[in-house]
Amino acid sequence: MTILVLNAGSSSLKYQLFKFENGSHSVLAKGTVERIGIKNSLVTHEVTGGARLEISGDVAGHNDALKKVFGALTDKEYGVISKISDISAFGHRILHGAEDFDASVILTGENIEKCKKNTELGPLHMPANLACVNACRELCKDTPNAGVFDTAFHSTMGKTAYMYALPYEYYADYKIRKYGFHGTSHRYVSAEAIKYLDGAGARSSRLITCHLGNGSSLAAVKDGKVIDTSMGFTPLEGLAMGTRSGDIDPAVIEFIIRKTGKNISEILEILNKKSGVLGISGVSSDFRDISDAAGGGNERAELALAMFAYRVKKYIGAYTAALNGADGIVLTGGIGENSVKMRTRILTGLDGLGIIFDEEKNRTAKRGTVFEINADASRTKILVIPTNEELVIARETFELVK
Ligand code: AMP
Repeated sequence: MTILVLNAGSSSLKYQLFKFENGSHSVLAKGTVERIGIKNSLVTHEVTGGARLEISGDVAGHNDALKKVFGALTDKEYGVISKISDISAFGHRILHGAEDFDASVILTGENIEKCKKNTELGPLHMPANLACVNACRELCKDTPNAGVFDTAFHSTMGKTAYMYALPYEYYADYKIRKYGFHGTSHRYVSAEAIKYLDGAGARSSRLITCHLGNGSSLAAVKDGKVIDTSMGFTPLEGLAMGTRSGDIDPAVIEFIIRKTGKNISEILEILNKKSGVLGISGVSSDFRDISDAAGGGNERAELALAMFAYRVKKYIGAYTAALNGADGIVLTGGIGENSVKMRTRILTGLDGLGIIFDEEKNRTAKRGTVFEINADASRTKILVIPTNEELVIARETFELVK
């Protein structure tokens, strides 16, 4: 079975073509379409173990972007399939499942209508996700589309964890509550951690998964099920991120409005796009740039890194309490997988909780595999695990259509 995984953003489309055969999978090709709807779009297509194709030109919308992807996948020189009907199913990343979806589904007309209703919960991502689904339905009428929701893995949270302490009718009438995001990543790395720890004869029932990238979130996972997570009604809550503020006192919003005369949309734009480590450092939202600036003596860059690590550490503490101890902490995402220095900042000074990392193992952690970086004396295993959200989407799609 051949499955095309599609992850559509407002101006981008990432794709990966998977082949499932005899109980195993391989990636045939992957790529991105950038700057959709903006001038000078760029399609980058990579054949696994082979050639790389770049096409520039204008791409008007998601329908157009998908045609470019289909063109690359069936290209005479760079293609990996002979015709588009060779694709057995499309697997779409969908941001928000709200309370309608606690698992992946085939996107029938009825399910698409439910997704449309939830657009107001994810106004930046949902229109792009749905535009991509519609384009697939238009261009390939007979090929099924599966929806894999960022929120679904968190649907096991109990009411105590997901409710906000607001008047109850806001939940009853408008479903205002914590939903959580990055679910496919937390699902993948927690399952990998359980496999690894069980194989090593270690306990695996209480895990804290830390997805640390441009967007960042933690999840407390008990017996494979999420009991709490740091993102909320939207991805804005929780950790300080690349450009998102994470937790703030909501009264600050009204105060900024009074001081600056900005309106609420402008403030939300600032909280989502101009805050986090970008806002603090004034340098960049990219941790490599900030780390370089801090190394060069930039105090605000240093502060941004310290604040990021401190917030992660606080959530680790909170989730250690929620789980009544942690058997394992998993670090993943661009920062969690790659940044030796950020892992050091986060993990230093947690020995009081029985969480002790090994400096040498942390420094030499190999990419692309499960890597244990805890000291022998640590009560909690600390694992660096590369995430693979596309594989989760492909597997879920495979299960639904097989
Ligand atoms: P993601 O959103 O998961 O792709 O992660 C992106 C973030 O990971 C960016 O802020 C990058 O600076 C950071 N990152 C990627 N590679 C490294 C690295 N080798 N060292 C430090 N940060 C990194």
